[in-house]
Amino acid sequence: MNILFNDSSVTVAIVGCGGFVGCHLLDAVLARTKWHVFGVDLDFYRIQHRLNDERCEFMVADLADKSVVERIAKYPVVVNLAAICTPSRYMAEAPEVIRSNYDHPAALVDACAKSGSWLIHFSTSEVYGRTSADSGLLVEDETELTFGPVTASRWSYATAKLLTERYIAGLKNLKWTVVRPFNFVGPYMDFMPGVDGSGIPRVLANFSSALVRGEPLKLVNGGVAKRSFTSVFDAIDFLFALFEAGQMGRASVLGTAAHAACVTECVAEKSPFSQAFNVGNPDNEITIAELACKMREIFAEIKGIPLESIPEPEKISGVEYYGKGYDDSLRRLPSVEKAERLLGFKAQTPIDVVLRESLTWFVMHYGFPNH
Ligand code: UDP
Repeated sequence: MNILFNDSSVTVAIVGCGGFVGCHLLDAVLARTKWHVFGVDLDFYRIQHRLNDERCEFMVADLADKSVVERIAKYPVVVNLAAICTPSRYMAEAPEVIRSNYDHPAALVDACAKSGSWLIHFSTSEVYGRTSADSGLLVEDETELTFGPVTASRWSYATAKLLTERYIAGLKNLKWTVVRPFNFVGPYMDFMPGVDGSGIPRVLANFSSALVRGEPLKLVNGGVAKRSFTSVFDAIDFLFALFEAGQMGRASVLGTAAHAACVTECVAEKSPFSQAFNVGNPDNEITIAELACKMREIFAEIKGIPLESIPEPEKISGVEYYGKGYDDSLRRLPSVEKAERLLGFKAQTPIDVVLRESLTWFVMHYGFPNH
């Protein structure tokens, strides 16, 4: 085991550790390192099996509570995954979405700047905004960020996330890394509406729910938008590559001057600090209509039924489906050059594998009703 991961004196704080990415990160930290975890969330159902782990301490709280924020920032590495990220809420509850994605994380940012913690903040690929069908690769430090009008409330989430990124980048004494996830998918993603959540989850959970219920998949505005779907397990590998690259900061990460030797010129050139990283898989780009097609086929195979017995997808307008204020990004293709260059990381899992793994999990987890 890498010397950093073998060090049982390290504690990483994971904010949102009961969520989709958080639960996988928690499992991976416990399996791949000797670290301890301080986990914060409001909901722990995904991590029940970890609640009594002696290397973990959990707290039921959110970032709206100032004393919690100060407590979190005492740890040398803070991964902030907490966010409201349910698209249907961006229209209906914009103020709440903005508070959750700007006000609360900004308080954590301030606390980390004061304590000297390394903040790994999860932003979103939605900061690239209202991309068009012919947008090219989205490059972290080059691509223009263009949002829709203020009446298109869809952009409340992206605006708040981007403001947090700018706040982070503007602070002189903060050690930070920003992560922009490109449509992470896998087990435990989102929820099944009416079972363990309300509103409209993101497309993969939504299509999976419709398949399990025997309902038609809804293609918003014809399903012409493209996304690059990324395995959550690749995303976790990215974080480990980031932790390793952060060894140049071990003196403060681990709180020991002895590790200052890790700060070599060679590593400094590849610093993961003060950087925003796309985390995505450009090889997995497909349209939402193609996604529907693939998911119907995989579901038919899992269930051992003819494809024709599964309802055909139906087209629906975005406003009819999500309500007034819906708008969309038509293409989201990540440049992953920076993560490859600075961290040696590249997502590996092909789209068919990602979808099969996610849908198989969904079917097992939420049941297999006859229809
Ligand atoms: N979408 C769809 N049907 C659904 C849910 C989403 O056609 O049931 C579309 C949505 O309009 C968007 C794409 O799928 O074009 C991805 O949406 P998602 O909510 O997963 O998140 P986004 O990538 O837009 O942040």
